[in-house]
Amino acid sequence: MTRKILVTSALPYANGAIHLGHLVEYIQTDIWTRFQKMRGHECWYVCADDTHGTPIMLRAEKEGISPEQLIARVHAEHSRDFAGFHVAFDNYHTTHSDETRFYSEDIYGKLKSAGLIEVRSIEQFYDPVKAMFLPDRFIKGECPKCSTRDQYGDACESCGAAYAPTELKNPYSAVSGAKPELRSSDHYFFKLSDPRCQEFLRHATRAVCANQPEAINKLQEWLGEPGENKLADWDISRDAPYFGFEIPGAPGKFFYVWLDAPIGYMGSFANFCKKKGLDFDAYWGKGSTAELYHFIGKDILYFHALFWPAELEHAGYRIPTSVFAHGFLTVDGAKMSKSRGTFITAESYLAQGLNPEWLRYYFAAKLNGTMEDIDLNLDDFVSRVNSDLVGKYINIASRAAGFIAKRFAGKLDARHLSETFRAELPGLIEAGEEIAAHYEARDFARALRRVMALADQINQYVDKHQPWQLAKQEGQDAKLHEVCSLLINAFRILTTYLKPVLPKLAHRAEEFLNVAPLHWADAAHLLPPAHLINPYEHLMQRIDPKQVEALVAANRESLAPTGANAAAVAPAPTPEPSPQRKAQHQQATEDKTQGQAEPKPQHISIDDFAKVDLRVARIADARHVEGADKLIQLTLDLGTETRNVFAGIKSAYDPAQLVGRLTVMVANLAPRKMKFGMSEGMVLAASDADGKAPGIFLLSPDSGAQPGMRVK
Ligand SMILES: [Zn+2]
Repeated sequence: MTRKILVTSALPYANGAIHLGHLVEYIQTDIWTRFQKMRGHECWYVCADDTHGTPIMLRAEKEGISPEQLIARVHAEHSRDFAGFHVAFDNYHTTHSDETRFYSEDIYGKLKSAGLIEVRSIEQFYDPVKAMFLPDRFIKGECPKCSTRDQYGDACESCGAAYAPTELKNPYSAVSGAKPELRSSDHYFFKLSDPRCQEFLRHATRAVCANQPEAINKLQEWLGEPGENKLADWDISRDAPYFGFEIPGAPGKFFYVWLDAPIGYMGSFANFCKKKGLDFDAYWGKGSTAELYHFIGKDILYFHALFWPAELEHAGYRIPTSVFAHGFLTVDGAKMSKSRGTFITAESYLAQGLNPEWLRYYFAAKLNGTMEDIDLNLDDFVSRVNSDLVGKYINIASRAAGFIAKRFAGKLDARHLSETFRAELPGLIEAGEEIAAHYEARDFARALRRVMALADQINQYVDKHQPWQLAKQEGQDAKLHEVCSLLINAFRILTTYLKPVLPKLAHRAEEFLNVAPLHWADAAHLLPPAHLINPYEHLMQRIDPKQVEALVAANRESLAPTGANAAAVAPAPTPEPSPQRKAQHQQATEDKTQGQAEPKPQHISIDDFAKVDLRVARIADARHVEGADKLIQLTLDLGTETRNVFAGIKSAYDPAQLVGRLTVMVANLAPRKMKFGMSEGMVLAASDADGKAPGIFLLSPDSGAQPGMRVK
């Protein structure tokens, strides 16, 4: 029976690059949907960029572009990275779309009519300079527990304490540096605590998480005993200025992530339905018989198993069939870390020339359908890919193909070999349904162990018959032809079993085998007698451990600049956390701690250094900046152009002393919008680590240097 299946992955936030931690989920989902398609089901895989919120708005502002320009650029980058890893969405959309807006408003309107929306006044920090309410991550101050300075508004990176932003000592806005004020404002809430929601969730969510006992336990904990009311209402609004959808009938109020990001699943599918002529309601309408699955990280389980089904149910839509939660990625047993070079972006992996299917295979070999974290052990990665994929699987084709080409003009044995095949390689065909069941249950690790056990069995057959010996013996042509033909057939069957994981390799194998794209059912029979195959070209290289070393080196972040400019610039805001986005955030947070723990400078290559365009500059003008304690505004003459730069050197220099002197600047630093204007570069100055005592010393070239000269 053909199933109708709709599959989603969590929406990546349009504020950063795709990294290997993200890829666990997209690769997992992609393997599963490819498998379903190979089984002949109508299976669609949709996703979108999550594009709204304060971090997007502020980042666009900092880059001097519109939020629309920013999200368009990131959409292109994300699409490129996913394609690079063969993640084949049927539709990759954006939440900043008419479709998502339509379903956000529709769901909100229905929840409101049902009496499940409530307006309440809440107190929140407000930035009086920037005239906006501040998300927790944009408020910094001293930790209320250990007094460490410059901690975020939600948790301390030094002692690990969690707290409300109002508990911070000496809080300041990470956007403007201003002291925030507590102000009250009306927020919109979805009443998850309503008895109707509680009642519904008690029976509905068990089914949604039925596949994962760990998830059911979690839900039990969150829901409590019958009669207990443990669920809290959810804040679904934010105040202007905000980049997102304004709430109908509520000027200046915008839908917060919960009422637009996940609705992007529906928006993306609606967009796809329009292109494809599919019936949206057949998948999302109440009473739909289609299956709906959300692949997610375990950090957003609460949202997907409680809030989301309650929201859908009471707005008259179907709820998910299941939510599939996975664990986080660690690298060499630890959280991904920029200082160790294990915070690896998708782009850098591909740029270093590593084969994306190596990673797909390795992740698949670790994914077992549970919420356990998975570890990318870099040594194990090299040895497993080399021994399993190249040593066991690819080897089968390469050992047989040459003889078929040279001795038999590319043709397989003309006899019907089914019986011989079943006798010599018992279980190979029969394993198909068992392996399919493992894929279906998302236990890819088990599926691949089974496939590799079959590969071992086939390699034993090779060793038993030794085709290279048969080839030397008189009168053994028929035997050689039979053995090599069986091996080509065995290789084709393994290729079918591996195809959901290795789509590109399978495509090249199909070309070599001279067959149409393989479906799962093709593994149940052999190639026709006397089938003609194409000349063999090597299908996969081994990983050279040096490639992995280079990858880690390329991702190792050098120390943050501590020069004059660093002192002047407000702390860079990090993304606002939300359960939808928490996974990335946690990894980023962990990384900060790592960075502080290991302040060892790392080596860079001469090429890395050459990326920095250092130029001699003449200070054409220098003035005080009104309202700034640390800054001097410099006009720098580069010979062919002038630049406006804000430098944090006020404590050490009087502007009048500076005019006319030469210094050195970074000329290709991305322009940065600051409170007082655009800063178009940075001057170099020496200081101790924290930029205070004993002073700041601006660099100067020896006399004779001219503005615009390159410093190398
Ligand atoms: Zn602390």
